[in-house]
Amino acid sequence: MEKHLKSEQYYIDRYDRMTVDLMRIKEKFFLDCDTKITGNKNEDEFKRATNGLFKDLGLYFETGERYLEKSETIRQWMDEDKKRDELMESAKTPVGIFCLACNKEMSVETKTLHIGNLNTEDKVLFIFRCGSCRKGRGFFHTGEEFKATPEHCDKCGKVLDKTHKREEEKITTYYKCPEHGVIKTYEYDMESKPEEVDSNYETDRDRFCISDEAGQEYLSFKIRTDQLQKVLRKIEDREANQELYDKVASIKKLSIVELENLLVSKLEEQGYIKLELKTPEQGRHVIAPFNIRDAKSGREEYDSKKQLEKAIKKTLETTNWRLMSSGVSYRLGMLFGELRGYEKEDDLAKLIAKK
Ligand SMILES: [Zn+2]
Ligand SMILES: [Zn+2]
Repeated sequence: MEKHLKSEQYYIDRYDRMTVDLMRIKEKFFLDCDTKITGNKNEDEFKRATNGLFKDLGLYFETGERYLEKSETIRQWMDEDKKRDELMESAKTPVGIFCLACNKEMSVETKTLHIGNLNTEDKVLFIFRCGSCRKGRGFFHTGEEFKATPEHCDKCGKVLDKTHKREEEKITTYYKCPEHGVIKTYEYDMESKPEEVDSNYETDRDRFCISDEAGQEYLSFKIRTDQLQKVLRKIEDREANQELYDKVASIKKLSIVELENLLVSKLEEQGYIKLELKTPEQGRHVIAPFNIRDAKSGREEYDSKKQLEKAIKKTLETTNWRLMSSGVSYRLGMLFGELRGYEKEDDLAKLIAKK
């Protein structure tokens, strides 16, 4: 029985083949990005100097990344194939399989591996053959029977009868409907065609599948750039935060008495008098309810509320106090609301960032 697990070189060759195919596509893409030479001397000088640069840089990164994934990918492939061999060896042959046509006990003809996909596991398939009538049945090592899904006629939906005919190296499969006759055929040529010679393969393999030495160099280059990026990001953060904390420092932190005095003078200018600031609730933030009277005769509820809100917001803009988002309410010339005081530096920073 042929083993799935091969020598390490087999997997190296497979990985390199994929790398060469992939890098040829990438190289073509990078070269397509080059600008066309136009005949204009000044322009072309620059273009000649920069053309190919993108390709060289791009391939440097791409081949480097391919190198970094190489040993892990090969290890995974070998692991998978080793597991397949183990499964083939350990799979128990189902026993007591009888022919559905003549009821004789059947014997195993072949044992093959059914390779699973993303959703299904690998399974071992045993094909049993009846010694007297030659009919077959298939069973997986898990015990479930293998059912070939029959093909149906497009015209009438009846199950198609499948027959094979071999002429030298060519096998033709005929699909026949009991009503409509042969409705499709499929040809398979067993003759092995000589592979096309890829004369640039060795050169490209040397270019794209970089040596351990070059790979390690790429790795340390990558680590250095990552570290450099981290340092740059830190500097940027500090600069961005510096601006924020400068702003925080410029905020006037007012005590409750200072707040009261400021509001009384500013709001009186707008016709609001007798401010009463109640003792604040103590929590993470300080919340102080207040009431004030509108002394301007003829000012209706809507205007009274809006003008007070506007005046408070403007007065407190550069301080650590804010009018609560619920705004103010109004009853018979009395206005009610709440003010929130911020103490901690990071709360103040958030307050500024929100703006
Ligand atoms: Zn039979
Ligand atoms: Zn039909």
